[in-house]
Formats: sequence, C-alpha cells, structure tokens
Amino acid sequence: MQIRVKLAEKYGFCSGVRIADIKVRRFAIDGGIGAILGQVVHNERVVSEMESMGMRTVETIDEVTEPAIVFSAHGVPPSFHDHAHKRGLEVLDTTCTFVYDIHREAGAALEDGCHLVFIGESGHREVVGYTHDLDPEDYHVVSSLNDAQAVDWSVYSKIRLFYQTTLNAEHYEETVRHIEKVNSRTIRADTICYATKENQTAAEKLAADPEVELIFVIGGTKSANTHHLWEITSKIKPSKLIQGPDDIDSVWLQKLTCVGITAGASTPDSLIEEVVSFLEQYKNPE
Ligand code: SF4
Repeated sequence: MQIRVKLAEKYGFCSGVRIADIKVRRFAIDGGIGAILGQVVHNERVVSEMESMGMRTVETIDEVTEPAIVFSAHGVPPSFHDHAHKRGLEVLDTTCTFVYDIHREAGAALEDGCHLVFIGESGHREVVGYTHDLDPEDYHVVSSLNDAQAVDWSVYSKIRLFYQTTLNAEHYEETVRHIEKVNSRTIRADTICYATKENQTAAEKLAADPEVELIFVIGGTKSANTHHLWEITSKIKPSKLIQGPDDIDSVWLQKLTCVGITAGASTPDSLIEEVVSFLEQYKNPE
C-alpha cells in the first residue's frame, strides 16, 4: 500500500538563508576562495556541499588561511568584522537583514539607557552576535523562567527585550511576563522572524490534520528552528526528526497511510525532495 505524503503549507529555507546560500555559491563559482565561520546554514548537507566547492567551515577567524571569510546569516559581533579586516581578509557578509535590524535596534535601545534582555540560547551564534561586544552589565540572556527569576529586574530604569529570531515565542511567554511584572518599564521588540512563525503555524496545522498519522521534520542536528518545529508537531502527532531519507526506519511506516512533512529554515529543497520521493515510492506490505 502506498503512503500519501502531505507537505506543510510553508516549510524549508527562509529568505535569509536562501540569500546566504546563493551568495556563497556565487562567490565560489566566480572563483572565490574562502572559509565559512561556523556553518553558513545549519545543515550538514549544505556544509558538505560548500566544502566540496572549496568553502570549508572554520570555528574561529584565526584559523582562516584563505583570502576571504564568510559570515553566516546568523550574523556576528561587530568586532569580528574588525578582526577579519585586521587579518587582511575579504569579508563576504551574508548576515540576514532581520538580524541586522535587531543589532541596530539593540544599539539604539542601549544608547537610550535601556538594559537589554535577549530571550534565547546564550551560546547560539545569533545571540553571540548581539551580545559578545557588550559590557556584561548592560544585558542578560534569558532562556528559561528560572533564569528570569534569578535576576532582580526592578533595579533597571527601563528594559528592552528582544527574542532570538527563530524561537517559538509562546514557550517564553511566562518568562517574559515575569520580567514585565517585576519591571513595568519593559518593552518587548517583536523580533521573532516571520519565516519562523509561518513555518511553525504551518507545522501545527499539518500536525492537526486528521489524515496525517506521523510527521517527519527534516533538518540539521544543529538547527534550533528545526528542533522547535519538532517540539510543536510532537505535541499533536508522533513526530520524527530526520536529516534525510537514510534516517527513516521502515518500522515507523508500518500500517501508515498518510505522513506529513515539514522542514527547518535551513533545510535545502533538494533534501526535502529526496524524502518526499522516498516516501512516495515506499510501499507498505498489503
Ligand atoms: S529565520 Fe528569519 S531572521 Fe533567520 S535568517 Fe531566516 S529570514 Fe533571517
């Protein structure tokens, strides 16, 4: 029996990642030689494709021996640009325009005397980009209600609060409300990216579809937004986080008639197509 595949109404690459991916590929095709700081896209397939084009991934600017360095869509602290220029490196900056908006808004809020709060993961590269160059007295990174409860927010004259773009805001509502309750001069910036929201809403809708029995969430193991999609769908339907068709265990497919598919903002179209084609060709024993 053949399995029907339903795709979420919105999934996969966001505009920021699509642009970053195109910029790096064009650079390599035009003969550019560079190293990518971190992963240009949080997806193992894309990383190895880039490596095969001569664009290897490095973890620090000092490791770069190529003439150019690529900064990913997540953005970097401003000091990284200075460091790269001091080393004489050409910079290919693929920072997403929405991430740059947050850098600008945070800078303006700081000048306005606000204490900055970033709701997100302290080690996430996007958050590191916002906070690395700041005085530790000027900001907090909060990733849970416990974190929020450990700080006396009343001491700050005003607070400006930003979200890491790829978060599910609902998960942090209680945390943000706690800060607002302790300090009524807290203003939230609506910085959850529309692409993330759209993928999340579509994933939730797909999981609620009565015909869909199992959801595959496709994405890299280091992709935070892919993991968030899985969190959303797994509350409603059994869900499997996979990187590609090779991760699919046929045991999961037994007796299924319809599966749903969604993918993180860093998952390339080619990988999604491979999973769809695998499932469409798969036949459960009658
Ligand atoms: S998820 Fe949004 S903010 Fe992040 S890179 Fe994509 S478009 Fe930009």
